[in-house]
Amino acid sequence: MKKTVIYNATLVPMNEQMDVLPGGSLYIEGNTIREVAPSKIEREDAEYVDARGMVVMPGFINTHTHLPMALLRGYADDLPLHRWLTDYIFPAEARWMTPENVAVSTRFALIEMIKSGTTCFNDMYFFEEIIAREAKRAGVRGVVGESLIDFPTPSFRTLEEGIARTESILQEWKGDRLITPGVCAHSPYTCSRETLRQAKQLSETYNCLLQIHVSETRKEVDDLLASEGKRPVEYLYGLGLLDDRTVVAHGVWLNEREIDLLARCGTSVAHCPKSNLKLASGIADTDTYLRRGVNVSLGTDGAASNNTLDMVEEMRFAALLPKGVRQDPEAMNARQALRVATINGARAVGLGDITGSLEVGKRADLLLVHLDASNAMPIYDVYSALVYAMNSKNVRSSMIDGQWVMRDRVMLTIDKEETMEAVRRLAREIRP
Ligand SMILES: [Zn+2]
Repeated sequence: MKKTVIYNATLVPMNEQMDVLPGGSLYIEGNTIREVAPSKIEREDAEYVDARGMVVMPGFINTHTHLPMALLRGYADDLPLHRWLTDYIFPAEARWMTPENVAVSTRFALIEMIKSGTTCFNDMYFFEEIIAREAKRAGVRGVVGESLIDFPTPSFRTLEEGIARTESILQEWKGDRLITPGVCAHSPYTCSRETLRQAKQLSETYNCLLQIHVSETRKEVDDLLASEGKRPVEYLYGLGLLDDRTVVAHGVWLNEREIDLLARCGTSVAHCPKSNLKLASGIADTDTYLRRGVNVSLGTDGAASNNTLDMVEEMRFAALLPKGVRQDPEAMNARQALRVATINGARAVGLGDITGSLEVGKRADLLLVHLDASNAMPIYDVYSALVYAMNSKNVRSSMIDGQWVMRDRVMLTIDKEETMEAVRRLAREIRP
């Protein structure tokens, strides 16, 4: 079994006590963290990795994304969500999201994600079995679910076919050490009551995560109030969809009662600040959500509406926005922002016992971040440096499930040049 000692690190394990261990070390056996110590651990036969000048921290958990949409980055910008989706994105997906193109686009997205420190993602799209296969090959942890929706998609024509695809993915990937299968319902405005109920039923039968877009725009709330007489979170609660195995993506427009419902049900929010800003959907009041006890996590959404998959940047938006909106510099402090981007994300997707922090018994999903750098030093407070100063290029190396996927910025599991050339070729076809 492979043994690794990472030493000389500033260890930021993101445990409950929020310890920081200068000169700390980690001992990893296979895929599991076996020891965390404030000084150098001595083990025979271990590979020693000197992390001088580096922070060693858990990888980022991106709790809401659509990986293949990286192919449509910059395809249509500066539009409101509903026009962007119906006039541009849905038609482009119908035309271009073939199984082959989904595979290339997924590899492409994973390159950016690894390079910016993501070690685990929660994806909702089509052809999720391909996304699962590519992530597994790249050594990246992921939760995958076919997006159930009431109209024909690139991967299924009827809802029955969509459910059959979801079930086959649930069966194929059950028990995998990297890929966790889940269920996704697109949203309350694209899924009927019956579809939503069936999605929840599936997630209960297979005891897995249910992901759904909720209250992303004010229009969505107004339309549902007009048709159902209820706001989205109240409506989903009434249908029995909300519990601690559900993640609502966005959750921008929530009233007091809805915030309390989410907290009471243990339902997590995947906050997507950049996508919400770019589509002018609004700004989620995450500071209030956290104070009321909602588990707030962080997602990039797809690269077509972000336009990056960079969790470092996303985390900075998540930390800065509440201060500006509330005119309160204490809203979402650096420690909270880093928790939102790591351990809260792991809990949101049901992997809180496995990843999201560096603790004995958890999988080794970690980053070596070079903070002895001109953009980040001096380090008076390591959380401040990570949240307010770090950029994605400071992420030097990444280990997922005990395997290095990047070392010194070199990708080890994906052929970067070949993938980028394939995307260039595709982009020339999409818009000659
Ligand atoms: Zn989304």
